[in-house]
Amino acid sequence: MAKHHFEAEVSKLLHIVIHSLYTNKEIFLRELISNASDAIDKLHLLSLTEEKYKEFVAEPKITITLDEIEKRLIVSDNGIGMDDVDLIENLGTIAKSGTKKFLEELEENKQKENLIGQFGVGFYSAFMVAKRVEVVSRKAGDEKAWIWVSEASGEFEVDEAKRETHGTDVILYLREDAKEFLDEWRIKEIVKKYSDHIPYKIYLKKGDKEEQINSAKALWKLNKSEIKEEEYKEFYKTLSHDMQDPLFWIHTKAEGTLEYTTLFYIPSVRPFDLFRADYEPGVKLYVKNVFIMQDRDLLPAYLRFVRGIIDAEDLPLNISRETLQYNAVLSKIKKASIRKILTELKKLKENDKEKYIKFWDLFGKVIKEGILSDFDNRELIKELILFKTSKSNSYIDFATYVKNMKEHQKSIYYLIGSEQKDSPLLDRFKKEDFEVIFFSDDIDSLIVPALESYKEKRLKSIASTEADEDFEEVSLDEAKYSDLLRALKEGLKEKVKDVKLSARLTEYPVCLVYDKNDPEYQTAMLLQQMGE
Ligand code: ADP
Ligand code: MG
Repeated sequence: MAKHHFEAEVSKLLHIVIHSLYTNKEIFLRELISNASDAIDKLHLLSLTEEKYKEFVAEPKITITLDEIEKRLIVSDNGIGMDDVDLIENLGTIAKSGTKKFLEELEENKQKENLIGQFGVGFYSAFMVAKRVEVVSRKAGDEKAWIWVSEASGEFEVDEAKRETHGTDVILYLREDAKEFLDEWRIKEIVKKYSDHIPYKIYLKKGDKEEQINSAKALWKLNKSEIKEEEYKEFYKTLSHDMQDPLFWIHTKAEGTLEYTTLFYIPSVRPFDLFRADYEPGVKLYVKNVFIMQDRDLLPAYLRFVRGIIDAEDLPLNISRETLQYNAVLSKIKKASIRKILTELKKLKENDKEKYIKFWDLFGKVIKEGILSDFDNRELIKELILFKTSKSNSYIDFATYVKNMKEHQKSIYYLIGSEQKDSPLLDRFKKEDFEVIFFSDDIDSLIVPALESYKEKRLKSIASTEADEDFEEVSLDEAKYSDLLRALKEGLKEKVKDVKLSARLTEYPVCLVYDKNDPEYQTAMLLQQMGE
């Protein structure tokens, strides 16, 4: 047998998996079934698009075998299979850079159990319940089969083996404390819970008894009225590897000229890679129940926290990443989906403020990016924005702000930066009883100037001279102060653009403002960072 060493990261991961007190061990089965299902997806897709795979169309099937004598649990599939190179690559390393980052976070985080559940460690979760794992696999189109064996001790072995047909068996030699997984009722319960709606049939085999134990119907294809709340939640967990319930979901079935189904979920925790450039996209594309791809282009980046499915009837099965963006049908579905998600978020804001605030705290910062990138939906995105103000410690939106505006108030006023309730810039606005918005997210200095207006009311920064235009000129005795102004200008030299007499202040002697033609400090700093 050829010995191989696990990549250091895998060893680390295995150590955590084995030694964590993670109570929810049963998810290993969800992970193995999801891999089996992915493998069938892959073969299915190839058989539809490539001639040489046509002969492999057998009835897709996943089998869980319980072997009480040897204390083994086996998950088998007739999917694409793996050759020796695949086995070494897929089951010896961690390919996803996201997973590596996850590991770094694991080391710092004390709540390891939660993180494992949240993330789902895939194949390696088998070692939560097994002391030894064997993977016997034969790749579709190959004559040879291979076996991969490991006891998680830092190494694994790969050797030639025998398998009648293409596909994979994952054989778990159960640990002493994991014998519950030999019980058929326990297995049925777990499969119902996590994998009922895997689109392929799952069979349970014990002795010579074999029975189907899932419904094998894609959940999203069922009518809304047929789906229980619990089923929506469990499906989300299968889809996203998140252990928490989703915050809410949007299930749409479009009929008519364009036929498609979408099921989108909003998580109740931030995906760990939300602010990473290499984030994993959360939406999967299906064509008539067949998985096609998981791709970033399915939703815009500012909706990258959304998890879910787009299933279209009228797409070619051989659509590729490259042709994806140019497909007119998909563009229409995408456009409608974005609109739907934003509209439903707005409804949530109106109907369940508490939940919406939870959403906003998690993803508001991300949604705001849409102001810069999605012109078509700009007005709708504005409706979604929440903020705190000089008058309100709880969140309000633009609609509320405008409703509360004073009769003689001309514009919407804001201040960028962390909350500055004592800023001298507020002086005049307090006196007039005008509300001032505090925009305090780090990206606000880029986003807010792009907002421009809301319902014909201009947004004006109170840190800029543009806000002064809203106030009547007060005639000031320039001559009386000319010496002082000159002295200040000379003293400050290059540090300021100008020194002016202003009626802006009542309680403070001076304040700094920006010329309306110049970017504000935070924006200038950001632009500088970006090399502008
Ligand atoms: P993920 O499924 O997120 O890619 P896993 O750790 O679950 O990560 O699996 C790692 C890889 O091993 C998969 O991407 C796949 O290439 C391969 N694999 C695992 N199980 C199977 C299987 N039953 N058939 C074919 N390939 C598999
Ligand atoms: Mg997996």
